[in-house]
Amino acid sequence: MSNIVILTGAGISAESGLETFRAETGLWAQHRVEDVATPEGFARDPKLVVDFYNTRRAQAAEAAPNAAHKALARLEAEHSGRVLVVTQNVDALHERGGTRNLIHMHGAVNSALCAACDHRWEAPMVMAAGDTCPACSQPAARPDIVWFGEMPYQMDEIFETLGQADLFAAIGTSGNVYPAAGFVAEARRAGADTVEINLEPSSVGSQFARHITGPATQTVPAWVDALLAS
Ligand SMILES: [Zn+2]
Repeated sequence: MSNIVILTGAGISAESGLETFRAETGLWAQHRVEDVATPEGFARDPKLVVDFYNTRRAQAAEAAPNAAHKALARLEAEHSGRVLVVTQNVDALHERGGTRNLIHMHGAVNSALCAACDHRWEAPMVMAAGDTCPACSQPAARPDIVWFGEMPYQMDEIFETLGQADLFAAIGTSGNVYPAAGFVAEARRAGADTVEINLEPSSVGSQFARHITGPATQTVPAWVDALLAS
């Protein structure tokens, strides 16, 4: 088990109090996805979109990493091989929990991106529509979030690492849908063991060899303990 790749989704941050994208109450429930999570929505009403991510940034800053985030950081620190965490989450709970080798495939709420020159910088707690880019001075700042219809970040690097994986785990995200389904297929081609760790098991047709079911704050520390002991 030298190369481990772990994909995490909303389920790992839910126990830190951050609502999931499909939540029936809270921030997401008050907005339509096409208004706040697409390039077209941003073009239509930049202030609405920037304010939406200002609120999410404030919520993420108040949340704390939980036992699952910390367990993955411990795995990276104590495992003799390589551990890569790929997260769909835009909060910074993995890095605040101690994980260093991390890819935010859907961007990060604490990062700002220049739509004109692709420069990135740390987002202020309160961004404004039309903020200027510190690199090119154009009023082209936007949240550094991968919206629907945009290409996720670092996919080449993710698939290259999956192609060398000995173990692939998906935590807090449905194993049957994008991106986990594509990742597990690539990991299986590489001969990797595969495990899905989720609150509820994926229904029919899962490609994962093993399934662990339960809250991430309980299942992930136990799984990491067993991996490090093996
Ligand atoms: Zn710029």
